Amino acid sequence: MFSVKIPKVINFGKNALSETEYPKNALIITTASKDLSYKWIDKMKIQDYILHDTVMPEPSIDDINSVMDKHKSKNLSAIIGLGGGSSLDVAKYSSAKMHTTKILIPTTFGTGAEMTTYCVLKFDGKKKLLREDEFLADVAIVDSYFLDGTPEQIIKNSVCDACAQATEGYDSKLGNDFTKTLCKKAFEILYDAIMNNKPECYPYGSMLSGMGFGNCSTTLGHALSYAYSNEGIPHGYSLSSCTTVAHKFNKSIFYNEFKECIEKLGFDKLNLKIPIDQAADIIMTDVGHLNPNPIKVNKNDIMKCLTDINNGNL
Ligand SMILES: [Zn+2]
Repeated sequence: MFSVKIPKVINFGKNALSETEYPKNALIITTASKDLSYKWIDKMKIQDYILHDTVMPEPSIDDINSVMDKHKSKNLSAIIGLGGGSSLDVAKYSSAKMHTTKILIPTTFGTGAEMTTYCVLKFDGKKKLLREDEFLADVAIVDSYFLDGTPEQIIKNSVCDACAQATEGYDSKLGNDFTKTLCKKAFEILYDAIMNNKPECYPYGSMLSGMGFGNCSTTLGHALSYAYSNEGIPHGYSLSSCTTVAHKFNKSIFYNEFKECIEKLGFDKLNLKIPIDQAADIIMTDVGHLNPNPIKVNKNDIMKCLTDINNGNL
């Protein structure tokens, strides 16, 4: 049997943000500045809400507990996550624990977090990936409106992540016919959008990518990328090289087209600061990404991939 889990309702496309009806007495969670969040809230045409805009990026479980403590007596009808990954993760976790309706509105497009059962939080200073059915959105709203005003660098890194997730998801051993269909279509849309300068198509591509990989997994490219994340490199940027060498190693059908995408977007070469041998030891422990990789990976393979990345040999 295969099982695919997606949000109950997905409102997407132009004007999805303003045409959705929002429940009364909802808590809006965002990391955005007041200027920005009020502009978005205006566009939503939501009337009756409480704004919580003091969430910090890369939230910890303690941050979430303080959000829940502050608002638990307010009889909330819904929690709305409005923003990037951090805002959505706080909304996912707190609404699951407070048993309220969960509405997720991504303002950057790449992670597909609005479609998935994943939630990333810090526990004792360390990031942890949680996965629970109750983190799924009741309503996900995907509107390209937010692209306007997003810095170019963020758009570029995000769409690279969406491409990596779609293609690694397609190759994942945890995939099935349905996830492969979603991942393949997602990458087709993203490839066409990148090569033909149609960024307005990124949100839909990223949404399909989230539905696809969110029901299987990412693989070697993501495993490699965490060595660079630990050195402060943005996730999408590190995937530009990591997923390319991973596709080469896996002989993925997406190798050439993925490489074309990252060349078109234009990313600098990566340089790992810690010794390759040491990084490979850490990456080898990431069984969540390595076990579903289509080809079995050993430490030497990882070291070869990291050497290729360091040498720009993609
Ligand atoms: Zn990713």
